[in-house]
Amino acid sequence: MIDLTAPADASNPLWPWFLTLLAIGITAWLIYDFVLAPIWKRRHILESIPYCPSLLLPTLPIERDKTILVPSHKMIQLSYRVNLMQLTCSCFRFRRIRRFYPPNDIRRLCRHLRKELLSSGCAQQFDELTRGVIASRLVDGCYVRENLSNSEMILGFHPRSSIVRVYTYRKSQLDPPGGPYTGQVDKFTYNHRQDLWIYGEPPPNSDEIIGVIDTIMTACRARYPHPEKLPQSRGETLATPIPETEAATAARMRRERILSAGKSTTPLQRP
Ligand SMILES: [Zn+2]
Repeated sequence: MIDLTAPADASNPLWPWFLTLLAIGITAWLIYDFVLAPIWKRRHILESIPYCPSLLLPTLPIERDKTILVPSHKMIQLSYRVNLMQLTCSCFRFRRIRRFYPPNDIRRLCRHLRKELLSSGCAQQFDELTRGVIASRLVDGCYVRENLSNSEMILGFHPRSSIVRVYTYRKSQLDPPGGPYTGQVDKFTYNHRQDLWIYGEPPPNSDEIIGVIDTIMTACRARYPHPEKLPQSRGETLATPIPETEAATAARMRRERILSAGKSTTPLQRP
């Protein structure tokens, strides 16, 4: 046993072996951390694209193609280099994971990119639902934008998780019970396995939203490459298509105006 607190004794026959093992250990760690882990992470992210849909952000104007220093929230003396147009950051999490997502993918947004998009006013160039997602932490692997009969929503989820985050409009006081809803965009959390809204009240149109969640989760899980790792089914049912009402037509026209203004997120195309 080598006593590490004792002065180094170069004559100890175990000392060269200790130094050799230490060098091998450090080299192996460096190879793993800087070579193997990024390769595996990149491959995992690219493989996930067919079963993990996502959203693309509209590209910001060319004036935003510059480096901005964003202070760390943990260490005041530390800053990260952020580029809002390229959606890049020099923080560890971006370099390790988020940089492997395609250009403009909403999953590229680390804490610093989100903070700078919101504080600089750039996020005002996106639609309300997209801003609602950016204001929250982007912790989900999949994002889907869906039209509802009288509203619209963005879902954040992963095929292997039962937790689904729903970003949609709240009902304001003057809104009719059946919508369209014009309140602020908020995040609602649904446990798909337990069929339960958690952390607060359900969103308006919750019955319809649950049906859409069932459809989307069923489709995503059907494409998942490791079905043995999926959670056990709770007997998911497919959503019933809902006929479009007059109010729904008004909501659809509003959405089309947003889309034509180029402010909306668009689905990430599968390779
Ligand atoms: Zn960052």
